[in-house]
Amino acid sequence: MEGTHYFEDIPITKQQVLNCAYGSWYPRYKKITPKSHIISSLPQSFIEYILQDGIKMPPEFFVDYILEDASEYSDWEQSDDEQSVVTPEARKHKQQQRRSVEDPTKNFSEIHEQIKSLIQKNGPMLPKLNWSAPKDAAWILPNHSLKCSSASEVYLLLNASSYIVHDLSQSLDECSDIDVANLKKEHKGLKFDLILKEWFDINPAWEFRCFVRDRRIVAVSQRDPNYYDYLHKMKESIKDKLFDFFDIHLKRTFQSETFVFDVYLPDKSEKVWLIDINPFSRTTDSLLYSWHEILNLDLSNYDEDDFDMRL
Ligand code: ADP
Repeated sequence: MEGTHYFEDIPITKQQVLNCAYGSWYPRYKKITPKSHIISSLPQSFIEYILQDGIKMPPEFFVDYILEDASEYSDWEQSDDEQSVVTPEARKHKQQQRRSVEDPTKNFSEIHEQIKSLIQKNGPMLPKLNWSAPKDAAWILPNHSLKCSSASEVYLLLNASSYIVHDLSQSLDECSDIDVANLKKEHKGLKFDLILKEWFDINPAWEFRCFVRDRRIVAVSQRDPNYYDYLHKMKESIKDKLFDFFDIHLKRTFQSETFVFDVYLPDKSEKVWLIDINPFSRTTDSLLYSWHEILNLDLSNYDEDDFDMRL
């Protein structure tokens, strides 16, 4: 219909995207963010390993996994003919062959050692790159989550995730201040970090996504799509907590005026944890809203410290 903009543009700049990279904000908000470790400026060899076709694993993976559960991973990189070979002898032979296969981590051995030692010292980790966690690849781990207890599990998730590929090759695609002709060059100039977040068990009911426009929370959505009846009774107190957290910690200090932040409110605790900061753009999931709704919210009936919230 003429004059009606159903698909409004959300202009986002390169700087706004860069401000949301984990390594850019984590040092400032360390005290309010669950403990994370950042391996900065990943070398090209690591990036190429993540982006390559197929999944090549280090020899220790076959020792850790295949010997224990040969059926689960043993058919990888095999042709259809090979997949029919299932006798224990044949399997053992294949495993020996694999262990003699070239170690893909030899081109980034320092980082490999760093990941191993961080997990050994601090326990399981959730891996992510500058912007995204490999949530779409959780199916690949035996526990079907992002909880990694070894470097091999980190590589499995990163290699199998399209979200990670997006971070590595399309993260600036939405930027209105980058000419399409320069996009490749701009991308080449980006530095990527591997973030290892120390794992803790999260109750998904208490995760919320807050949409901030011009330094004001305009909308909040529950992150988990499941319905939790008990949240409704607590809606006003949750809103108060979220507003106070934003007002004290983020409103005046985050480098962008418009952004999206995720928080976790642990049960029975007053503390609010910052989980992530994302660009205010269509690449960020608008969850229980549509982006059109967020962009057209009428806040004239709300006080300065109030906002729309969907559970
Ligand atoms: P993304 O921006 O890609 O969604 P997040 O950092 O928000 O990545 O993490 C994705 C999900 O992983 C969160 O919704 C949360 O449920 C879970 N999560 C995040 N951090 C941790 C952690 N330290 N331990 C356990 N689970 C976590």
